[in-house]
Amino acid sequence: IPVDPFDLVIFGGTGDLARRKILPGLFRRFCAGQVPSDARIVGAARTDLDSDGYRQMVREALAEFGRDIACDEGTLNGFLDMIQYLAIDARGETGWAELAELMVGKGRVEAFYFSVSPALFGDLAERLQHWGMADEDSRIVVEKPFGHDLASAKELNATLARYFDEKQIYRIDHYLGKETVQNLMAVRFGNMLFEPLWNAQYVDHVQITVAETVGVGGRGEYYDKAGAMRDMVQNHLMQLLCLIAMEPPARFDPDAVRDEKLKVIRSLDPVLPHHIARGQYDAMPGNEAEMPSYREAVDHPRSRTESFIALKTHISNWRWAGTPFYLRTGKRMAARSSEITVIFKDTPHSIFAEDAGRHRNVLSIRLQPNEGITLGVTIKEPGPGGMRLIDVPLDMTFAEALGVDGSDHVDAYERLITDVIRGNQTLFMRGDEVEAAWAWTDPIIEGWEARHDVPKPYDIGSDGPTDSTEMMRRDGREWRKVT
Ligand code: NAD
Repeated sequence: IPVDPFDLVIFGGTGDLARRKILPGLFRRFCAGQVPSDARIVGAARTDLDSDGYRQMVREALAEFGRDIACDEGTLNGFLDMIQYLAIDARGETGWAELAELMVGKGRVEAFYFSVSPALFGDLAERLQHWGMADEDSRIVVEKPFGHDLASAKELNATLARYFDEKQIYRIDHYLGKETVQNLMAVRFGNMLFEPLWNAQYVDHVQITVAETVGVGGRGEYYDKAGAMRDMVQNHLMQLLCLIAMEPPARFDPDAVRDEKLKVIRSLDPVLPHHIARGQYDAMPGNEAEMPSYREAVDHPRSRTESFIALKTHISNWRWAGTPFYLRTGKRMAARSSEITVIFKDTPHSIFAEDAGRHRNVLSIRLQPNEGITLGVTIKEPGPGGMRLIDVPLDMTFAEALGVDGSDHVDAYERLITDVIRGNQTLFMRGDEVEAAWAWTDPIIEGWEARHDVPKPYDIGSDGPTDSTEMMRRDGREWRKVT
């Protein structure tokens, strides 16, 4: 179903994110027939280009980052025809009069995507209002990071609130746009099977892992000021935690869902220092030229920023009291893998012989690669060997269950952009959620700073520092293998 006609202005339209994600995402939706042909996409950035030059840049970006999109030259040209460019300065006067003129009273959805440094969010919002573009139907989309701590997030919220209503602000967390994340809600709230077991009585613990194989890449300067806690935990991992742990919302609508998520964040216990393992990747012996250590990559020989963190937390409410939630994320790990796993408790009593084997039910929700949901179920090993128990997966992997291949998948960004046009904020973070998340992470980070905590080195290609494995071992548990 096509969305309503819209004008989308991408501030930072020449940047990395626009070229890698936003424009290919829009193109994919265009090819799927969801973008009406009278929509307009305006790239707006500091780069000195005209519309033809920008269209050429978009063509190249699509060739590089949209290779999987099957479409003919005519369709591509149709997409490029709806694109134009304006050189604009978020902090100056250049381009604003032209943009205002372009956007004059068309009576259609107007969305402004702030794909620029967060330092410019306030300038953009202010100028949009000054030039009459912040009317009540317009929307702004803001990228991460949303603040650096609670104080800066509050300030940013207050700045945006001067010009836009909360209903107009779409704070992106692209993890929420992933197909499996929404499927998690369908599985939890669309089946009778899981919800009665979804509590401390039946769940032993929950693990959330987001493992990356990449290092800090070209983002060293930003990353070294942020670290894994700010870059990944405060937003993505906490959002996943909320969706796994929240109470059923009364309706699948933006505020009902976000109210429940907020309650989870506010029920999180503070994290004790010995429930945290911090790490920093070390150079790989013999391979230093190709894989620099974290400190080399950020060019800061004494950096105390973590590229890995594992922690244990509890949610103090009736549903989850006593159930640990383990969160783990890191760079340069053994594999690229994002997974939420719910490990159920042992059956209260085994009726089978001791050597029959005993398994726990494990529900694993995989975000990447191979998005899908698997439930491990114990059955009898087939054959004449007597009663021996084995664990088999009930597989809800999309590719197999639904016969879709990767190219049919809607990427997180394209889903979220269409949600912006449709005016659906369910998968976007509300200002109070972001602030509550910072209120939880700030004391942890302040604790490290006060103690001059130095993260433990870990090998590139490993599962993180031994502290992380130890933390689990002390609890008589182990991490799922990162594969
Ligand atoms: P980038 O540095 O590649 O691009 C920045 C863009 O901003 C360019 O188009 C540049 O022309 C424009 N710009 C800079 N100063 C400007 C000014 N004064 N006025 C107007 N335009 C100006 O950055 P990026 O990687 O595309 O990131 C953009 C935003 O998205 C940032 O907030 C970043 O944190 C966030 N983000 C990026 C990624 C990613 O994968 N690149 C992922 C998550 C979040």
